[in-house]
Amino acid sequence: MTSESAVAKAATHLDEKSFNNRRNNRRNNRRKNRTPRSLVLADESLEILFWMNDSNGQQDDNPLLDMSGLPKFDCIQAEHVVPAIRELLSDLEGDFQALEDDVVPTWEGLVEPLERMGDRLSFSWGAVGHLLGVKNSDAMREAEEEMQPSVVVFSLRQGQSQAVYEGLLAMREGDEWGRLDACQHRIVEGMIRDAKHSGVGLAGEDQERFNAIAEESAQLATKFSNNVLDATKAFSLMLTDEVEVVGLPESWRDLAAQSAREEGDAENATAQTGPWRLTLDHPSLQPFLEHGKNRSLREKLYRSYVTRASEGELDNAPIIARTLQLKREMAKLLGYDTFAELSLSTKMAENVGVVDSLLEKLRVASIDFAKNDLAEIEALANASGNHEGALRHWDITYWAERLREQRYDYSEEELRSYFPFPKVLDGLLALAERLFDVKFAYADGETPVWHPDVRFVRVFDRSGDQIAAFLLDPYSRPSEKRGGAWMDECVGRSTVCSDVPGQARLPVAYLVCNQTPPVGDSPSLMTFQEIETLFHEFGHGLQHMLTRVDHGLASGIRNVEWDAVELPSQFMENWAYYKQTLLGISGHVETGEPLPDALYDKIVAARTYRAGSMMLRQLNFGMTDLELHHQHDPTGDESAFDVQRRVSERTAVMQPLPEDRFLCSFGHIFAGGYSAGYYSYKWAEVLSADAFSAFEEAGLEDEVAVRDLGRKFRDTVLALGGSQAPGEVFEAFRGRAPQPDALLRHAGLA
Ligand SMILES: [Zn+2]
Repeated sequence: MTSESAVAKAATHLDEKSFNNRRNNRRNNRRKNRTPRSLVLADESLEILFWMNDSNGQQDDNPLLDMSGLPKFDCIQAEHVVPAIRELLSDLEGDFQALEDDVVPTWEGLVEPLERMGDRLSFSWGAVGHLLGVKNSDAMREAEEEMQPSVVVFSLRQGQSQAVYEGLLAMREGDEWGRLDACQHRIVEGMIRDAKHSGVGLAGEDQERFNAIAEESAQLATKFSNNVLDATKAFSLMLTDEVEVVGLPESWRDLAAQSAREEGDAENATAQTGPWRLTLDHPSLQPFLEHGKNRSLREKLYRSYVTRASEGELDNAPIIARTLQLKREMAKLLGYDTFAELSLSTKMAENVGVVDSLLEKLRVASIDFAKNDLAEIEALANASGNHEGALRHWDITYWAERLREQRYDYSEEELRSYFPFPKVLDGLLALAERLFDVKFAYADGETPVWHPDVRFVRVFDRSGDQIAAFLLDPYSRPSEKRGGAWMDECVGRSTVCSDVPGQARLPVAYLVCNQTPPVGDSPSLMTFQEIETLFHEFGHGLQHMLTRVDHGLASGIRNVEWDAVELPSQFMENWAYYKQTLLGISGHVETGEPLPDALYDKIVAARTYRAGSMMLRQLNFGMTDLELHHQHDPTGDESAFDVQRRVSERTAVMQPLPEDRFLCSFGHIFAGGYSAGYYSYKWAEVLSADAFSAFEEAGLEDEVAVRDLGRKFRDTVLALGGSQAPGEVFEAFRGRAPQPDALLRHAGLA
């Protein structure tokens, strides 16, 4: 899972609202039998937060249902999952039924119970999901699969509860409303909106039609992804002649030979002698387009890639047309003209016009750079003596890679020696201490973890009070851990879900990366990309941990609009490019020397390589998506592919092939949650670059100015979470609305 979907998943916990008294009783009973771990913790809240299991067999209950402190990762086993979740759901269903039978339309009577119920489910079910990601096993997967349908059914029931919806409306219309603060208003408004969008406000035939659409759309989305998977799988070439793999790196040959052995019935395949199996999977495809000298194979590969899932039984074209019709119809039932309007009603961007004008501004700024990028690689190809005729689609990646090598190549191995993980982590924490006026303390061994490599770190404010903590799982473990990197909530800040009356429960984050593990006695040496990833996830973590919101439904990353949620993460990435930071986190593994200037310069230069082309490609996706879900009439004569070509006339320097059916594999918008939302990637980049530029304007070398701005960032973006509209939060920090200039400047497109 990517960090993005992890955040989205965490945010969906908001939909899982629930409550129960038994839990509190059980917890209080258990408390008497438990021994607090005698930590060097002066302040009481810590003792309560980090209560530990005593080891003398008090574990008579299922550890997944022990909701005191943090999840008991040293005790939770796959066999606990089914009984725990079954018991929990049965409790929650009873509680929810009782709530529905007697709705009290007040904050304490309705919203707080819903928060508690949701918290109980996300505590236990969240721990299961977390273990599935970091400590996977057949037994754990089976247990999760067994319980997942029941969890989904329960969540849907809550999200579509007519009684709760009416209670929320009554709150908004009655005297209660005047008693609530702005954050509470925002929480309730969001709940009403989400309920509406799940069809609760509809009646009679409209509601039936809505449900039918939702069901058909879900089936089409599944069919769409399955078709893409099947079509991807259906293509493979067994290469047997050395001349077909000239130029490919050893790592690709290894992978291709392994794939030939496993899937291609060639049990004697080796990296040196082949055969090599070429597929449309990214780890096979991408290196081949970059390094494969054999042009006709590149062409074959490219053409197969852009026509995936566009023929025969796996043809996604009819699914696209039908999906777009259904989405338009659903939007109209809910009172919007188009699906894009429905999508934007839950986002930071005010309306389609605002997004259009931002994307257009970026397009105008990038197009000439992109044309120049193409001219440069064309010149290199022509001068090389290894290329004939005009440059075609399947040549671009190949020659772009040659030019990159010529200009910016640095060996990852050379670079990695400067970034041992302990040094990088120390440097990152020191940066955050300096910027945000907090203190970190390593506390390994003070809470149960799921693997000995996991680090536990406590966060303190200036007065020495603990305010948060995080669990960092840094290294790749392919046998049990999912790839990618993500941040997730372990527990969130909340007064309602606290063990101590009047005192908020402290937030704890999971930060999960997949970087190179240590080898022998040598520490993990990080690539630059791994460093960027760590900074990114840490940025998400900061928003979760430094929140000052006590309402659990709006603290940290909760209740933050989707297109604004990547602001803190990408903001932190910017710091990785700043020289002082990079020097501060570097130290050669053997000599301790900081990163040499020449290497630093290459890292920075590589950041802007072909930035115009990259930008244009993302704009092409974002604009096509928006056009399809807004202007395009899904019942009219123009097809989705006509729209793609029309948008490409403005956003591509080389027009797509006539048979290009890229949309047939655009799962983000036809099978994921990005319909009329793909623009969010660029939107969030604008916010993060613009936020960072405030520091650049003040002078990155100016310690005092940087410190003051860091405090301000903490007090606004990091502290306010989802308690205010993201536009207001941004303006509170920046003093004005976001502008795209900094993004363009960082990308070298100004
Ligand atoms: Zn992210």
